[in-house]
Amino acid sequence: MAKQSVALLGLGTMGAGMAANLLKAGFPLAVYNRSRAKAEVFAAQGARVAETPADAVRGASVILSMLADDAASRAVWLGTDGASGALAAAQKGAVLVESSTVSPAWIAELAAAAQARGLDFLDAPVTGSRAQAAAGQLTFLVGGPAEALAVATPVLEAMSKEILALGPVGSGAKLKLVNNFLCGVQIASLAEGIAWLERSGLDVDRALTFLKSGAPGSPLLANLSARMTSRDYAVNFHLKLMSKDLQYAGEAAAENGVELTTAANARRLFERAVALGFGDQDMSAVVEPLRIAAKE
Ligand code: NAP
Repeated sequence: MAKQSVALLGLGTMGAGMAANLLKAGFPLAVYNRSRAKAEVFAAQGARVAETPADAVRGASVILSMLADDAASRAVWLGTDGASGALAAAQKGAVLVESSTVSPAWIAELAAAAQARGLDFLDAPVTGSRAQAAAGQLTFLVGGPAEALAVATPVLEAMSKEILALGPVGSGAKLKLVNNFLCGVQIASLAEGIAWLERSGLDVDRALTFLKSGAPGSPLLANLSARMTSRDYAVNFHLKLMSKDLQYAGEAAAENGVELTTAANARRLFERAVALGFGDQDMSAVVEPLRIAAKE
């Protein structure tokens, strides 16, 4: 059977790995990225490079987006400055898949816009980072109708190790924000712990070896503590995106009557790092404001 035609909108840290795996699996692929240079790379591998989101989705059966935030998703799906976006140009029968980490409120609005055009819609954010995107080992957290997921499944399988069907539209976005709330708070507390260790006179490496294998240990703590202590801020996850996730998590939880006080405090630390110019570095750089404060 011929492979479905796919469009991928957004070729950042995650989208680039996803595009490579779609091409490797043999899907006819059209790609769009706001900064065209990141898309050009895939022309040599057989992708059609589109000038606009609307151009990218023409003829596609499955349309995926992997963008920074609500504003980016809105711009690409609905268009900006009078230019139409991906939604208006999608063909009848296409399944739209929003894989960015965005707010449940925006997912509800986008799903309604898709429905108004008679198009199927899934929210399918991912867990896993740059390495898992490159290796086709992501996990998709999916909300939306089973029939639409059945159509999208072969495409998602090319990029993932696991696809979790969680319920109605918005379910993926909600679980993803709970996930990143727990990660973001842990990363902020780890940054404070490391800044404290570095000033305490303790042997930092010995202390971390103990902590990693003890009760506070986790895959996140092991990975991020090594990056913080070695000051390795090459990007797996842009720091500014974690601030965004903590904001969306706080807002989504508030809609359910839960105040995420720890998310608000963690976000303050990420925002301090953004203000000091670390927003486009890896989220492990969140330790830097504390090091600077310690020197002052
Ligand atoms: P990224 O490297 O920062 O890439 C962001 C993408 O969004 C780029 O294609 C960028 O285009 C585009 N973009 C930003 N603002 C835009 C706008 N106003 N209009 C159009 N396009 C815009 O992000 P990423 O790491 O690939 O993450 C993508 C999404 O997945 C985010 O929601 C993130 O939170 C989530 N996520 C990331 C990870 C991770 O480990 N990195 C893991 C799971 C989920 P340009 O290239 O032109 O800037």
